[in-house]
Amino acid sequence: RVTVVGSVNADTSLRLAALPRPGETVLAREASASLGGKGANQAVAAARAGAHVTMVGAVGREDGEPLAQALAAEGIDTGLLTRSERASGRALVLLDDDGENSIIVVPGANAALDDAAVRQACADLSPGDVLVLQHEIPAATSRLAAATASAAGATVIWNAAPAPAHAADLVEHVDLLVVNEHELDAVARLVGLRPAGPEADVAAVAARLGTDVVCTLGAAGALVHRDGALVRVPAPVVTAVDTTAAGDTFVGYLAASWHLPLADAVRRAALAGALAVTRQGAATSIPTRAEVELGLAA
Ligand code: ADP
Repeated sequence: RVTVVGSVNADTSLRLAALPRPGETVLAREASASLGGKGANQAVAAARAGAHVTMVGAVGREDGEPLAQALAAEGIDTGLLTRSERASGRALVLLDDDGENSIIVVPGANAALDDAAVRQACADLSPGDVLVLQHEIPAATSRLAAATASAAGATVIWNAAPAPAHAADLVEHVDLLVVNEHELDAVARLVGLRPAGPEADVAAVAARLGTDVVCTLGAAGALVHRDGALVRVPAPVVTAVDTTAAGDTFVGYLAASWHLPLADAVRRAALAGALAVTRQGAATSIPTRAEVELGLAA
């Protein structure tokens, strides 16, 4: 079982020739709407990986129903997705023809998760269950979730994304920290280290926080630091079309594969992430378990 306590957004993606400069008005070729938010994307990835997934979060009372339905359509349990007086979180994603993007996120209901729902979901976990957190909801809510799940004996995975900016953003009771290079750098600074490159930083952050650490490196795969040993897991070579949600796919697959030896779980997650970058879109680009199995067999 995988429980995600995190963000759910209504994403609007706009495709345009070039990103607008300040003061400029530009026309977009097309607009598309989809489910998004790191929490929701990771829940979808874990569900497609075959896990039984519960999504704990908050959406707007007025506008949240389509988001809840999109999660439920993936087989995700939405019984603890609460309805807020605030509007659902939103993200506006601008994508230009060079593959550059600019993203604006309005947290909305994600800033007001219900503590009672978080406590209920996390107290119900058992050893063998996995809690997944990101950094798109208040750190205090993530800390409550981590402390409660940890006391219940569950494994806590924290994907510190987007990069935390203050020491108060750090979450305790974490078993595994998952970051990309930029987030690793940010976490290293917050715990008082001078960044010295991914390999050294992964080891230093693991020692300082007392957690295992996985750092994703895009096309170069991932670094895994567990029990004092560092392993590099390569990603398959693919033609990247759209890297959106590669990280979320990786984390969701990793959480769903937690029962495997860590290096095997990371290999699976790296393959799933690589498949996601070969396709357009966020949640739509997340591969199914069958597709990943096919890739592993190849
Ligand atoms: P984020 O999107 O959070 O910055 P990364 O870019 O590190 O995360 O990507 C996460 C994972 O997705 C990588 O560890 C890798 O397995 C896969 N991936 C991402 N980009 C590529 C790529 N260009 N080629 C192959 N795999 C990729």
